[in-house]
Amino acid sequence: MAGVCSYNYEYNPAMHRHLIEVRIFVCFFFILGLTLLPLPATADAGFQKWIEDFYPVAAESGITKNTFDAVFTGVESPDPAVLKAARYQPEFIAPVWDYMDNRITEGAIHKGQVLAGQYKKWLDMIESRFGVSRYVLLAIWSIESSYGAALKRESVLRNVARSLATLAYADPKRRKFARTQLIAAMKIVQDGDVSAQGLRGSWAGAMGHTQFIPTSYLTWAIDIDGDGKRDIWSSPPDALASAANLLADNGWQTRKTWGYEVRLPPGFDYKLAEQEGITLRQWSKMGVKRAAGTPFPRPGDKAVLKLPGGAEGPAFLMLRNFYVLKRYNNADKYALAVGHLADRLAGFSPIVQDWPRGYEPLKEDERKEVQIKLAELGFYKGEIDGNIGSGSRAAIKAYQEKNGLVPDGFASKSLLDSMRGI
Ligand code: CA
Repeated sequence: MAGVCSYNYEYNPAMHRHLIEVRIFVCFFFILGLTLLPLPATADAGFQKWIEDFYPVAAESGITKNTFDAVFTGVESPDPAVLKAARYQPEFIAPVWDYMDNRITEGAIHKGQVLAGQYKKWLDMIESRFGVSRYVLLAIWSIESSYGAALKRESVLRNVARSLATLAYADPKRRKFARTQLIAAMKIVQDGDVSAQGLRGSWAGAMGHTQFIPTSYLTWAIDIDGDGKRDIWSSPPDALASAANLLADNGWQTRKTWGYEVRLPPGFDYKLAEQEGITLRQWSKMGVKRAAGTPFPRPGDKAVLKLPGGAEGPAFLMLRNFYVLKRYNNADKYALAVGHLADRLAGFSPIVQDWPRGYEPLKEDERKEVQIKLAELGFYKGEIDGNIGSGSRAAIKAYQEKNGLVPDGFASKSLLDSMRGI
């Protein structure tokens, strides 16, 4: 509120009176708006009962009454913003080009390069200890929290206990996840790394500069700055070391990249997309070349061909480290965005082939219709949730192969038209 009704503009006598009037006008409506807002939610009896019933469960995992009461102090009702956010996940919904464009910006590249200098001492130490490239860590920092800037936003500054209790109480799909994370979150407080008030995070309980969920924190958080606390909330060195530890422990291959943009030869057999076990040497023999024009440095390594925007968009050969990045956030778009931003931070070129931006992305009910039709035809056994993940893509590919379409696994309008028999 201080920002809205304060006078922190540069002084200009000619504008002074006018600005004051505008400010008073704006403040009037702002205050009017506040009075019309609903009153703070009152205690929700069902939710309170849920919290009460959860104590014995937490106690079984060694959580003391003191810790339990501390994290739930002031938590009286479910957080409606958490349930709203749970319905929108950009990894599944945004078209890949929007997802990439929003994350790989000139600003993100410039700031990352500045921070690479500023944190050089720590990045040297982390790189030599964990064998993970500094550019990958900076890219994760950027995408997870805009290099910490997002931690000032309400959406990533929520009370983690309230967010997770809300999901456990009111989101059946995330109930099990949320209960596990909630107990882990209480352990973090009990171990003394952060106070109950400091346990802040996103709607899903992801916390700090590199957005660790509580179980990941317990397994991989690191105190590299040596102050005795694993502080991913306010110590970038701790957060970056923790991310490096997670990747290293999940099999990150030191001094290797995540994948390459490639060019496919004319008449390429798209059935080979998403197939495992093919080496870069074999891909080369099939006429697949790096978009950069240089040869593959380690031809014996295996790579999977991915077409995140369908056959019309760029093609990538993904290496082992791409799948390690997916351990951080299990979405192809996420791992591609981290990998590509890391390349850009290291000074490599943008993606050569543009995305098929003319494509109109499918809306939620259309994505569900694709899943329903795939299920009816026997190609798909997963949930009808409108989230086009790897299961849906495999089913689309199978449908396309069966129907003589280019099997790129891409959920497009033309695919839906084909299914509707148009
Ligand atoms: Ca520390």
